[in-house]
Amino acid sequence: MSHVRTVLGDIPGAELGVCDAHDHLFLRSPRLPGQELDDLSAARAELAAFRAAGGAAVVQWTPYGMGRRAADLPALSRTTGVRLVCATGLHRAAHYDAESLARLRGGRLAALFVSELTEGIGTTGVRAGLIKVAGGFHALDAHARWTMTAAAEAHHATGAPVAVHLEQGTGALDVLDLLCGELGVPGERVVLGHLNRAPDPVVHRQAAMSGCWLAFDGPSLAHHATDWRMPEAVRALAEAGFGDRLLLGGDTVTAGARSVDGGPGMPYLLRRVRTRLTEAVGADLVDRMLTEHPARAFAADWPPAQE
Ligand SMILES: [Zn+2]
Repeated sequence: MSHVRTVLGDIPGAELGVCDAHDHLFLRSPRLPGQELDDLSAARAELAAFRAAGGAAVVQWTPYGMGRRAADLPALSRTTGVRLVCATGLHRAAHYDAESLARLRGGRLAALFVSELTEGIGTTGVRAGLIKVAGGFHALDAHARWTMTAAAEAHHATGAPVAVHLEQGTGALDVLDLLCGELGVPGERVVLGHLNRAPDPVVHRQAAMSGCWLAFDGPSLAHHATDWRMPEAVRALAEAGFGDRLLLGGDTVTAGARSVDGGPGMPYLLRRVRTRLTEAVGADLVDRMLTEHPARAFAADWPPAQE
């Protein structure tokens, strides 16, 4: 039976509840100096605010080497009552220093992903529940091909879903050609993120035809120019018959974007996005985007634990 792998253990998807399918509690990158998400009490307060708004689960897409704070996640989940799923995987090369990348290139990336999914992250015992990777701007560079090849291998070994950051929302079809076409990952095991950042309805439909999940996440200051077109993009997909492929997330990536620091943060998804989308596609579909869809997208038939 399929289960969602949370930081407190595997659960049937139906127990996930109202879920923010793409967000970050902790994140550190040389690309975002001074804006790190690394404050434990702010993360706890943000989760409590999300819980108070009706939220029950958050999928954290922060991958390997970006300050995930995996050891802190079980206690955060227990104290706030919000279920948490965390990621293995690797982001774009720009988010790492040269030394770390050289070390990773000398090892077996797929083995690292598999071990974080099945044994745990470092010595924490916390197992990842998804593999996060990233495409490039309208193309796939060598780093993207390397990480996606490892992600596909780890997927085939574990059944884990593969979640993809699309750079500025672009490159969806290149990612699908590689992951699903060349590397044999079934479309329904792939989640594409940031589609709101490149709201081309034709590309969205072509991507949806692969059977993949389309995640609309935000808002973000950097992507304000396109974020507001999200309700129309979601409606176009629903009208084309792809309503059952859609996910929603907040994608908080900087400290200032947290609701407890004065930003929209995680509660915004339930406070404003839900009502605005209800206007576009109706309450029933929006409810399913927040519950049933993440339950299916992030559930997997995990291999039995090794003794
Ligand atoms: Zn993200």
